[in-house]
Amino acid sequence: MVLPEYDAQCGWYEMLEDISDFGQLQNDTHFDTVVIGGGFVGNAAARRMAENRPDNSVLLIEALMIGQGASGRNSGFVIDQPHKRELELGDNALKNKIVNLNHTAIDYFEQQIDRYGIDCQWSHAGKYQAAVGPRGEKFLNRYESLLQKSDSPYQRLSRSEMGDVFGTDYYNAAIFTAGGMLMQPAALMRGLADNMPDNVRVVENTPVLEIARTRDGFTLKTETVEIRCNQLILGTNIFTAELGYLRNKILPVMTFASMTAPLSDEQMKRFGGQLDWGLTPADHAGTTVRMTQDRRLIIRNSYRYAYDYNTPQALLPKVRETHRKGFDARYPQLGDVSFQYTWGGASGLSGNFETYFGQLEDGLYASCCDQSVGAARGTISGMMLADMACQKESQILSDMIEVSGKPSRLPPRALLRIGVPVRMGMARMASHSEL
Ligand SMILES: Cc1cc2nc3c(=O)[nH]c(=O)nc-3n(C[C@H](O)[C@H](O)[C@H](O)COP(=O)(O)OP(=O)(O)OC[C@H]3O[C@@H](n4cnc5c(N)ncnc54)[C@H](O)[C@@H]3O)c2cc1C
Repeated sequence: MVLPEYDAQCGWYEMLEDISDFGQLQNDTHFDTVVIGGGFVGNAAARRMAENRPDNSVLLIEALMIGQGASGRNSGFVIDQPHKRELELGDNALKNKIVNLNHTAIDYFEQQIDRYGIDCQWSHAGKYQAAVGPRGEKFLNRYESLLQKSDSPYQRLSRSEMGDVFGTDYYNAAIFTAGGMLMQPAALMRGLADNMPDNVRVVENTPVLEIARTRDGFTLKTETVEIRCNQLILGTNIFTAELGYLRNKILPVMTFASMTAPLSDEQMKRFGGQLDWGLTPADHAGTTVRMTQDRRLIIRNSYRYAYDYNTPQALLPKVRETHRKGFDARYPQLGDVSFQYTWGGASGLSGNFETYFGQLEDGLYASCCDQSVGAARGTISGMMLADMACQKESQILSDMIEVSGKPSRLPPRALLRIGVPVRMGMARMASHSEL
């Protein structure tokens, strides 16, 4: 069984101060509901379950420290507009449901952030999508026509506007949509975990090694204790198959990010752009760029098939080199700015791009394969899994079921290990000019 690992490389997590200690389970114990995995799905599921049933006990159990998994390692976009594929379907009703679901997740984050004063660089910054050359422009134009067809408001930027915001004339074209949020993901995950309802117990650094069915629920084995529960929610995303569920359905894909140290006043002048924006590439295989509120530039690109789930450390120098090239091409004026952190993280795709959401078997619920937009999608999934487990019907739950599907069966791993890198290599070559 492969378990999650943390490599002390993720900038978001490494910058945190005052990390709380939730303590360990000392004895075998029972909870009404156990939620495994402290990412977006698990975090939202545990809170909602506790709110739905204030008299019940809930355990949120995480293999690492909360914020160290993919939910604390991402680029920090909480998107409202669906990905291009869902826009491509041309079904405005479905697209509007996805936007509403994403907005429900955003509202949920805002409520918790306001209520508990969670300091996580939360910002109504929207999202830029940008093209470097003709290939990217083709993707961007298609994206624009899909936004028009679905009556989604957007704004095309002029060259001078792009320069003013991004601090570079590297881009040929960009579109801005206003609904998305930006945040510091590890800070958000820790802030949410620190402020759980009283009937939630949080336990970290405790991987669940085995799940067994009992007459009235489940027994979970960890290295030191056994935990019994009546209901179980899996927020374990790519690791779900390691616990024995949705085998051959989840395609773990890793991508990488590098983050600079905060720019000095003088470097900020040379940068010449604004603070607090995020840009995703028009061509998906291109480069995401972010400038944080605390003056750090972030570059994200490069993909690998993460059959081993965790980040091979030997890959990081090569990835950093690729990030450096992308950085230097955009910011030749910042040659003296070095990367403080480089890290990888894996999230779950499926062969047919469908997200899994629902009841796996009696009393057992899961959500995974969010196609790498888990901040919003994972959060609303977690909330709605809790509602499903409580038989709490609503329009949001019906919509969630409607927009989810059945991930297709993947080819055997041996074939994936050949086929996926070949496809990724081809995509990388085709998109080279957009990196
Ligand atoms: C570099 C990068 C950039 C990204 N950028 C974005 C972005 O900007 N916006 C966006 O929406 N998405 C982004 N994503 C994708 C996003 O991070 C994922 O979609 C999201 O984290 C999935 O959330 P989750 O809760 O389903 O799973 P995870 O975050 O993977 O959480 C699962 C948790 O389960 C725990 N776990 C697994 N097995 C066990 C076990 N046996 N026992 C106990 N605990 C266990 C893991 O340690 C982990 O913490 C990005 C991903 C990466 C890697």
